[in-house]
This record gives sequence, C-alpha cells and structure tokens, in this order.
Amino acid sequence: MKNINYKLATLTLCTLFASSALANNTQAPIRLVIHGGAGTITKDTITPEQEKEYKAKLTEALNAGYAVLNSGGTSIEAVQKSINVMEDSPLFNAGKGAVFTHDGRNELDASIMDGKTRKAGAVAGVTTVKNPINAAIAVMEKSPHVMMVSQGADLFAKEQGLTIVDPSYFRTEYRWQQLQKALEKEQVVLDHDGKTAALFADPMMYDYKYGTVGAVALDQHGNLAAGTSTGGMTNKRYGRVGDSPIIGAGNYADNETVAVSATGSGEMFIRTLTAFNIAAQVKYQKLPLEQAAQNALDEVKAINGSGGVIVLDKSGNYTMSFNSEGMYRGTIGNDGKPLVAIYKD
Ligand code: ASP
Repeated sequence: MKNINYKLATLTLCTLFASSALANNTQAPIRLVIHGGAGTITKDTITPEQEKEYKAKLTEALNAGYAVLNSGGTSIEAVQKSINVMEDSPLFNAGKGAVFTHDGRNELDASIMDGKTRKAGAVAGVTTVKNPINAAIAVMEKSPHVMMVSQGADLFAKEQGLTIVDPSYFRTEYRWQQLQKALEKEQVVLDHDGKTAALFADPMMYDYKYGTVGAVALDQHGNLAAGTSTGGMTNKRYGRVGDSPIIGAGNYADNETVAVSATGSGEMFIRTLTAFNIAAQVKYQKLPLEQAAQNALDEVKAINGSGGVIVLDKSGNYTMSFNSEGMYRGTIGNDGKPLVAIYKD
C-alpha cells in the first residue's frame, strides 16, 4: 500500500511539473524593460554600496511589474507598478527624491501611453501627487484630455482620490545640495563673464545623473505600454516642462510598432521627437530597434544632447540604448529572471 501511495505521489508530482513546464512554454511572450535615468554614471562616480542599492531597487521594480504580467495583468498596470517602486525610492529623480527647480521647489512630470488604443495621459509641473504616473493614468482613463498641468493637474488627482502629499515629501538633502552646487556654478559664471543665458541654454553644463524613471511592457494579451516619470532637471526655471510628459518625445507606445521611454537632456529630446522618431523608423523603414534607437540618439547628440531610451516591440524584442556614460536599466521576461545593469559594459 505504501508503495502504491508513493507511486501515486510521484505520478502527481511529475504531472504537476509537466503541466507547469507546458504552461511556461505555451505562455505568450511577456517582457518588461525599465530605466532609472542616464548620465555621468561610471564606476568612479558611484560607491559599491550605492551600486548595490540601485541594483536592488531596479530588481524590486522589475519584480513588481513581472508579478502583474505573469498573472495575466495589463502592460499599463505593469508599467505603473514598476514605476511606483522607483517613484517611492529617493534614489531616483522621480516622486520622492525629485530634483529641485531654481526656486527650490519640486515640480514633477509624468506620462503614460497605451499601445492598444493609443490613448495617452500626462501631467506636468505637479507638486502634491505622491505618484505622478498614477495621475497620468487617471488623466488617460478618467478624462477626455491627454495633458493637464500644475494646480489643475494636482486638483484633478485629488478629485480622483489619488494619494496627495505635502510638497516637502519630495525633498531629499542630496538633491537640495545638488541645487546649491548648480546655483553656485551659475553665480560664478554670472559674476565673471555674464554668460548666464548661455548656461541656461546648455543644460549639459551641469555634471549630474538624470535619474528619470521609465518602463515599457508587453503583456500576455500582446499589448504594449510605456510610462515615464521625472522631477525634470536641477535648477530648471519655474514652469519648465521637459520631454517626459510629451507624447512622442519622452514617451510613446503603439502596438503596431514599439513602446519607448526616454531619459536625458529633455529639450533636445523634444526638439527631435525621440520616441516617435524611433516608432516612425520601425514603421516606415522597418528598421531593427537598435538601429532606430541609435539613429534617434545620434540626432539628439547632433544638437548637443545626451541620454538613453528603452524600446520594446510586440514580439518581445527590446533594446536599452544610450549615448551617455551609463544608464540604470533592467529587464525581465517569461523566465522571471531579472537582469540589471548600470555602466556601458
Ligand atoms: N528628460 C528629463 C527632463 O528633461 C530629465 C531626465 O531624463 O532625467 O525633464
């Protein structure tokens, strides 16, 4: 009897393993690709402890999005969950830990796009929504509009029942000091040769890591989505809006082509419509993703910009390309194994 029970148990176990293997093999492709910003990120500018912290947080963000995709959830929700992890972490320039404006405020931008419907939502210059990507999703899903800005967007988020915080929630000492340094540099330039205007025109004058966050996802239903969330650029002037909430510049998704999220010198990404540029090359020229991304980044570089993009298509092909020294990045697919990287290697 014992023997029979043992055989039965073994048979059941084998069947279980076989069916779960079958499930994995037959599951539609799922993929999540994320970035946590690009910039002057080298082994010399980051301590081993910081590297560990960044990798752990990127892994957490990947796992959060993977849980959604693996259980049959939508690409929009996967993008949201994964971005929320990075927004809530002071390590990145999005949500808590956002950079400061010239006036010492945190003004946040975010956007989302649904590749299936090409519906989109964005907020710019919000100061009280804890997770700006959630506000962008609310604009897309709960309003007839694509973009809302400043107090109006904050008010709309509140009315939608999103978590509202005091503006001081976003403050970190590190970002505050970063602003002080930027202000000092500006002062020096102003004092000595009066070239302040030129300095403002060249955001790359400041040697810092961008730290915007973004995610692109492909769900089991074959739908793509892209999301981007940021504090913008240190020392930006009041009301300045970067590429992150601009559909076609810092964010884009279309099931027919690709989902894209960008990070870098926003003004140049707006001027070259980076995200749509990549989608258009894939659509009309049938270029491979790497080539399309490289061409778009070359155009950004040609006007003195730098940064990176994550790009994903409907078959699960992806690229994480950048022309800066590094980009916090990672990806996860059907096997559920997160891969993260920071430097050029
Ligand atoms: N692209 C963002 C902006 O210009 C900055 C960043 O990527 O960190 O607002």
